[in-house]
Amino acid sequence: MREEARVIKHVFLPSRRAVWTVVSGGEYIVSLDPPSCTCPYFFFNTLRGRRGICKHLRALERAVYWGEYEIVLGSDDELEILLRGILKDLWISFYKGRAPAASGAPVA
Ligand SMILES: [Zn+2]
Repeated sequence: MREEARVIKHVFLPSRRAVWTVVSGGEYIVSLDPPSCTCPYFFFNTLRGRRGICKHLRALERAVYWGEYEIVLGSDDELEILLRGILKDLWISFYKGRAPAASGAPVA
């Protein structure tokens, strides 16, 4: 069974800056251009050229292609809150020593 991923486009006003997040095994900031994700799999495998892209990037590509994603509007002040929250979760997951290779691995 395929794991469902929620893809969210956060749009901040008035700057109209947009940040994509994918919720699947945690919430990660994902970008298509350049391809990047804040998950441990991307950091340890994709960036080092060991393996292809993580499941979050795949989910984002799919969602953008099909136009199937949620849009959440917020104020520019909330952008910093979002980033802080996600980076804090990321730090905690590293600190707890969660297996980095497994988290974010694409589902075949
Ligand atoms: Zn990822």
